[in-house]
Amino acid sequence: MKKNDSEAKERKMMLEKYKKILLERQIQLAQHIQAMEKSVLESPMRDATGDLTNLPTHIADISTDTFSQNLAIELLAGEEGVMKEIAEALDRIEGGTFGICEHCNQEIPPKRLEHIPFARLCVKCKGEDEKRNSRTQWNAMS
Ligand SMILES: [Zn+2]
Repeated sequence: MKKNDSEAKERKMMLEKYKKILLERQIQLAQHIQAMEKSVLESPMRDATGDLTNLPTHIADISTDTFSQNLAIELLAGEEGVMKEIAEALDRIEGGTFGICEHCNQEIPPKRLEHIPFARLCVKCKGEDEKRNSRTQWNAMS
C-alpha cells in the first residue's frame, strides 16, 4: 500500500513536470509560429500582389524570397505539427495515458520523454513504425 502510494505520487510529480515542459514549449512555439506567419505575410512576394513598390527588382532577389518563403511555410507546417503533438500529449496527461506507448502499452523510458516529451511510441515501436512507413513509401513509388 505504501509502495503504491509513493509510486502514484512519483507518477503525479512526473506528469506535473512534463505538463509544465509541454505548456512552456506550447507558448514558445505559438510565439514563434506567430512571428513566422507575420514574416511570411509581410514578405515582398506577398506584397507584390498588392503593393508594387515592394516588388524585388532582381531575379536573384525574387528566387531567394520565394525560397525563404517556401522554407518558412515548410517550417511553419512542421511547427504546427509539433503544436498538435503537444496538445495531444497534454490530453494524454489529463487522460492518464501519458508516457505509455500507444502501440505496445509499455512505459516509454524517461530518457526518451526527456528528449521528446510528446513521444507517443516507445523507441522500438517508433523504429518499426518508421520502417513500415518507408516500406509503404517504397511500394507506392515502385
Ligand atoms: Zn511500444
